Amino acid sequence: MSIRNRLALILGSVLLPLLLGTGVVVAVVVPAHDKDQAKAGLRVVAEAVASLQQETCLDLAASARLVGGSVERGDAAGSALRIHLRQDVRFAAVSRNGTLLARAGDAPAGVAAQHEVLHQCTTSPVRPAISPVAALSPAPAVLEYSATTPTARGPVLVVVATPIDDMQLGTWRSRVGAAADVQLAAACPGGGVTATGTEAVARPLAAAAQRIFEGRKAAVAGMHVVSADVGAGHPCVVVAAMRAPSTLTASALTWSMLLLALIVGGVLVWWLARQLTQPVLALTEAAERAARGDLAMKLPVSGKDEVARLAGSFNHMARQLDLRMTEIQDSRDRLRLNVQRLGDALQRTHDLDGLLSAVCAIGATATESQRVTAWLVEGNSLVARVVWPGGAARAGVRRVPIGDSLPGQVVADGVVRRLVAGAREDVTLRDGPAMGAPLQRGEMMLGALVVERTGDAESYTVEDQAMLTSITGPAGIAIDNAMLHRQAQRMSVIDPLTGVGNLRMLTTTLAREVDRAQHFGRSVSLLLLDIDHFKNLNDAHGHGAGDAILHGMAQRVAASIRSVDTVARYGGEEFAVVCPELGPEEAYGLASHLHEAIRGAGFPVEDGVVDVRVSIGVASWPQQATTSTELMRAADAALSQAKASGRDRVSAATVPHR
Ligand code: GH3
Ligand code: MG
Ligand code: MG
Repeated sequence: MSIRNRLALILGSVLLPLLLGTGVVVAVVVPAHDKDQAKAGLRVVAEAVASLQQETCLDLAASARLVGGSVERGDAAGSALRIHLRQDVRFAAVSRNGTLLARAGDAPAGVAAQHEVLHQCTTSPVRPAISPVAALSPAPAVLEYSATTPTARGPVLVVVATPIDDMQLGTWRSRVGAAADVQLAAACPGGGVTATGTEAVARPLAAAAQRIFEGRKAAVAGMHVVSADVGAGHPCVVVAAMRAPSTLTASALTWSMLLLALIVGGVLVWWLARQLTQPVLALTEAAERAARGDLAMKLPVSGKDEVARLAGSFNHMARQLDLRMTEIQDSRDRLRLNVQRLGDALQRTHDLDGLLSAVCAIGATATESQRVTAWLVEGNSLVARVVWPGGAARAGVRRVPIGDSLPGQVVADGVVRRLVAGAREDVTLRDGPAMGAPLQRGEMMLGALVVERTGDAESYTVEDQAMLTSITGPAGIAIDNAMLHRQAQRMSVIDPLTGVGNLRMLTTTLAREVDRAQHFGRSVSLLLLDIDHFKNLNDAHGHGAGDAILHGMAQRVAASIRSVDTVARYGGEEFAVVCPELGPEEAYGLASHLHEAIRGAGFPVEDGVVDVRVSIGVASWPQQATTSTELMRAADAALSQAKASGRDRVSAATVPHR
């Protein structure tokens, strides 16, 4: 069951009984209250009409006495009636000894003009007994009064009466200010009963009034009935009545109220459940969307309640998650790029500087650095071999001893070092943060990679450190491979015994220099040098001494020629010198200088110093050859010439060797 339905169930079970109870109370109590109100109003009307009845009786009595007094004083009966009758007296008669002297109005039914009654303001006792229904008309209830006054010609009887008919009741009703829908009835002594309203209303009302007059309880269906009792001076019971709302109407009202309460309650429960659960459902939906990876959505935050705070926290969390995801994505992209570039860089084992440049560029991207320097170990110091970016200013100091400054300490300790901004290292140009990581293969230190940021940038973090070492690890191996490759390459053209070039170096250098001379229209010369009677030296001092002489000879030749010249060991005890830009004369001069340098000082061996002599053959391009092979042959021929001429001399090729 959903949270909304659960809440609706709880709210419904609490609210609906309350609403139903309220509906029932309203449907029952309100009509009862209305009934009481109506009855209280009717009671006031009935009491007021009873008072008016009393007032009428007093008027009748006063009129009778005044008329009697007037006749006693000798006035004519007719004039006495005209003068002294009160306005609401509807019938009056004056008689003496059974003879009617004067009358006013029509006698109401049952009223005898000459009959003396001793009652004061009562209905006539002589009226025949009639049923209450029949009494309505033509014999309504009557209020009458009679008085006997003695005169000189005998006693005079004055009878006054007023019927309590529709008209009288209507007059009283308007005098007491009752509403037109209030019906009145009067039941008087002697059976006179009258009631207002249509016959359908008047009949049961008159019957009820009669019953009340007789001291019994009475009710009229569909009407509220209230009576005012008979009292002194008002002999008739007065009944006031009005139509009561039918029971059908009352129960329909009750059911309507209940139905309304149910509908209102149901709507209220639905609305409340919706209002209360809407934020929770919105949160649930948002969480589901976030779980599907949509972190861009935002929950509306209104107010400061717990739900608003929860929505705010959720938005914050989603935003943070989104940022983190973007960061992770960025870092993954960067990592992929770096791995790819590192892979490319590691291929460049034949190009150490290219490899170092690539490693520097990767280090810069990976650690968001503005300047990177690759330092390599050379002996006991470190040399700044490559700086990234290419145009960046070189570090102030390009060579530092191992153990000094940032790269020196990194290589000495073999651990990463981080410097905060302002450390002012000699080797860094910027004042910003710097970090150095060792470049190594196993235990062998090759150098250090130093990254730098601008002055106001953030310091390097542990994450940056991990990123840098993930690059320097494989980079160290690649750099070592490149260095080994360089060394192997170098060894392949170096003669191991003497340290000068070997035959391969000689042939490639010679071919290159001849090409160049040909291209630029310049000269190149070749000297071939052979130690005289070397076999004898070997025999005399031993093979080891022979080796030492060969090594010493190579050093002495290298020291005696120009830096642009190339010396190589040609054969067992033969050396060659390639001399770019030298023509025959200059070459001969250089050969002579070399010859003298060798002759000038002996060569140390274990058992002393040995004098060594050499023969040198000289040939030049283009004078004695058109190709490098011809140049070799020409120089060799010159050497043979020197040997043949007695050794210990320089011999120049004289003719072209083709
Ligand atoms: P010449 O004056 O005619 O050049 O006489 P030579 O004895 O120098 O020439 P030869 O060709 O007869 O002998 C060369 C000797 O050089 C033979 C060999 O034992 C020696 N030799 C060649 N290579 C080496 C080397 O690497 N070390 C030593 N110690 N001796 C070598
Ligand atoms: Mg030789
Ligand atoms: Mg020799």
